Amino acid sequence: MKIAAKKKFGQNFLKDEVVLYKIIESMPKTENVIVEIGPGLGDLTKKLLAQQRDVIAFEIDEGLCRLLEKEFHEEIEAKRLRLVCGDVIDHWKQNLVDKDYDLVANLPYYVATNIVLRALQDERCKNILVMLQKEVADKFCAKEGEKEFSSLAVLAQSVGQVKRVCVVKPQSFSPAPKVDSAVLLIQKRANLDDKHFMQFLKAAFAQPRKTLLKNLSRLYPKEQLEQIFATLGIASNIRPHEASTSIYHQIFGMLKEKID
Ligand code: SAM
Repeated sequence: MKIAAKKKFGQNFLKDEVVLYKIIESMPKTENVIVEIGPGLGDLTKKLLAQQRDVIAFEIDEGLCRLLEKEFHEEIEAKRLRLVCGDVIDHWKQNLVDKDYDLVANLPYYVATNIVLRALQDERCKNILVMLQKEVADKFCAKEGEKEFSSLAVLAQSVGQVKRVCVVKPQSFSPAPKVDSAVLLIQKRANLDDKHFMQFLKAAFAQPRKTLLKNLSRLYPKEQLEQIFATLGIASNIRPHEASTSIYHQIFGMLKEKID
């Protein structure tokens, strides 16, 4: 059956067997259930099920849900695949799933950052292997000193190991997106459990060309920040992308002590 891709749901179907193979090859070898967000036409889902791993898939498009129910009738009957029809963000407002899981997905780009941030905070999520816009993937992977280094990089690198698996060209999809994509792997060792840390980072990177001290002064007392910078030996003119993940944790830890 011919399906017209819906732009509003970020539907760019991955048709490149080589890329699908690379995703499967890069999956951390665990026994966790796999959560797939946006199974679409089911090409990746089929390969995930072939790894003898159970899959829980969330799909927003009702038409695609009906198609997937037919295509994966046997796997659904055998309870190897649970297909949840609806917006994954609504399901995340409670527990997404009630067991440990690895997220493996070719994400809809309009909501990809939101999904990765939720997965980073979800203690049930153990690993994240996702396709997203290359520009966004680079923000998660960038190292301190690089201009793409952002709050997303500090967050991801605070919870585990972050790696860009490969870059994927628009021709690998149907329809082709306008931009390059990339597969991102985050192997989690910890969780982001402090909402204040996220606020702190948001303030730190609010204006990337201003100094870190100036950005943070909008949220915290400048005098305290100056003391902390002096104690840690951080130059007062350092820009947000020049401080390392470890420095961010040290500043935040000392701020917490002063404020609590
Ligand atoms: N996995 C398929 C593939 O690799 O070809 C499709 C990927 S396509 C980029 C994104 C998929 O996510 C589409 O099937 C779309 O309908 C679905 N989607 C978009 N927004 C969603 C949401 N909020 N919750 C669940 N699924 C969503």
